[in-house]
Amino acid sequence: MCDVCRAEGLDWKFANGKREDLHRVRLYRVYKDRVAVVELCHLHAIELFILGEQRFLKNHADLCIELSNDTARFSRVA
Ligand SMILES: [Zn+2]
Repeated sequence: MCDVCRAEGLDWKFANGKREDLHRVRLYRVYKDRVAVVELCHLHAIELFILGEQRFLKNHADLCIELSNDTARFSRVA
């Protein structure tokens, strides 16, 4: 499931229609010396691509909270 939709309680299957593919993306500005790996639905992957990482994170405070609360889950060696 999309990490943003889950954090925000969105119905990602409804929002994405038939596109159920998830994009596994790396975020570089979340952790020092590590990358954050998140899964995004098609819509959120496009949003990240258009906005760039910093503005995307600003738009999704709930995801940021999860990223900071659950470092073990999201962070990987860069
Ligand atoms: Zn999503």
